[in-house]
Amino acid sequence: MRARHGAVATDALSAPVPLVLIVEDEKDLAALLELNLSQAGFEARVTHSGAEGLRLAAEVTPELVLLDLNLPDLSGLDVCRQLRVSTATRSIPVVMLTARSDERDRVSGFESGADDYVVKPFSIRELVLRLRAVLRRTSAEDESRPPVVAGIIRLEPAMHRCFIGGEEVHLTQLEFRLLHHLSSRVDRVQTREVLLEQVWGLSTALETRTVDTHVMRLRDKLGPARDYLQTVRGVGYRLVIPEEAARAAR
Ligand code: CA
Repeated sequence: MRARHGAVATDALSAPVPLVLIVEDEKDLAALLELNLSQAGFEARVTHSGAEGLRLAAEVTPELVLLDLNLPDLSGLDVCRQLRVSTATRSIPVVMLTARSDERDRVSGFESGADDYVVKPFSIRELVLRLRAVLRRTSAEDESRPPVVAGIIRLEPAMHRCFIGGEEVHLTQLEFRLLHHLSSRVDRVQTREVLLEQVWGLSTALETRTVDTHVMRLRDKLGPARDYLQTVRGVGYRLVIPEEAARAAR
């Protein structure tokens, strides 16, 4: 996070003020969000269209994008996918706002690369807590952290890059953190609750199915390393290095 010129810090003079880009076509709600997020110590910038949201995200590189799912021009899912494709915006966390709450929308939101999901109507307090949690876990990704190698998996936290057998695989922020957490703890089972707390930054009882959804997506992306990610039934997940990969590395 960076300190921003002209922004008033809430506590210490040097405290960074995270910029949140709000992409929401309901003008009353957008104005309400802008006001409340400013009061909560964020710098807020508003746009009412998906295309403008994409342009602004690349131009101002906010710390976070708060993205409405139902926009008049592009769908929020398309905006999110496009943010994930561009190198300039790939690592900006996205929190989706939606009036819908069924599982299919939630899953497609995560598939498009969203980091979290807030269903309307929501309380501003809950939203602020979610945004802070997302920012906490993304800023916790220390850029000086060394690469992690587990068998054919190689993670470079500084560049936010993942390689499987030398081939780059594009992961969302969340998938990257999940894989980093597991790869740094080879053979050690991690419960869903621990993963929610350590990877999502949430200590609240968000449905543990969220973890399952992400692990499935991540496993699909791992290709030749998909068997590394093991389900430990009734407990959680762990990353293992198959014997032949371990032998090859010796
Ligand atoms: Ca809308």
